[in-house]
Amino acid sequence: MPAAGGLHRAIERGHAIGCTAVQVFTSSPQMWKSKPVSDQMVKDFRGACEATGIHHVVSHDSYLVNLAAPDEAMRQKSYDSLRDEMERSALYGIRWVVSHIGAHMGEGTALGIERASHQVVKLLGETPESVMLLAETTAGQGSSLHSRFDELAEFFEACGNPDRLGVCLDTAHIFAAGYDIRTREAYKRTFEEFDRLVGISRIRAIHCNDSKKDLGTRVDRHAHLGEGLIGLEAFNHLVNDPRFFGIPILLETPDAETMHGENLRRLKALLV
Ligand SMILES: [Zn+2]
Repeated sequence: MPAAGGLHRAIERGHAIGCTAVQVFTSSPQMWKSKPVSDQMVKDFRGACEATGIHHVVSHDSYLVNLAAPDEAMRQKSYDSLRDEMERSALYGIRWVVSHIGAHMGEGTALGIERASHQVVKLLGETPESVMLLAETTAGQGSSLHSRFDELAEFFEACGNPDRLGVCLDTAHIFAAGYDIRTREAYKRTFEEFDRLVGISRIRAIHCNDSKKDLGTRVDRHAHLGEGLIGLEAFNHLVNDPRFFGIPILLETPDAETMHGENLRRLKALLV
């Protein structure tokens, strides 16, 4: 949800359209630097969560972060940015921080995972325990890591499978990465594979987006629910899947200000 006028406004806007979970950026996603968090900002934000009853709040890190960057200075900058994000989130009482983790920039998946996992282990050691880091599944655009479930499994293994590391599964990304969820059979197969390689219990948040790009295209373009190439049937299976009850399911569909209410209605209409 957009946070114009203060982060607490994102919670209020979400509540106004019927959200029970909200994703926010605690700072500008296109910038490295962020404003310091004041006591008043924390008070307003926690107050809004209390008043609305919205306690499933997820923050998303800056898009600039690359924990697998070959350049050491870039890696350090990314580390500092994500550490700050987790610290800000702890102040706000936000329990989950989603990160795209990184891209190997042509140096290969194995080296990318090695670099990123080293950063993540250090990060979890230096940030408040109340915040969990969620690695997002990606579409595999460019050289981004974690478009394949086996890569995610390797990453978890390299990090030592810490409790404070989870997964944010993005439906548009996994679809673009080649995992079909359009029919009951395909949905079942895809999540069986996820469970076998990574473990379903690792999924702590879901980005619920339709896709403008087709299966396996490795291109990340979100669409309104039911208007993309995934279609509503997949989301029907998703919202009625008891394995995901209680887990924040978040919309990242286009036109947040005007269309989130409509996409939320479409999603809720699928609940049986
Ligand atoms: Zn996403």
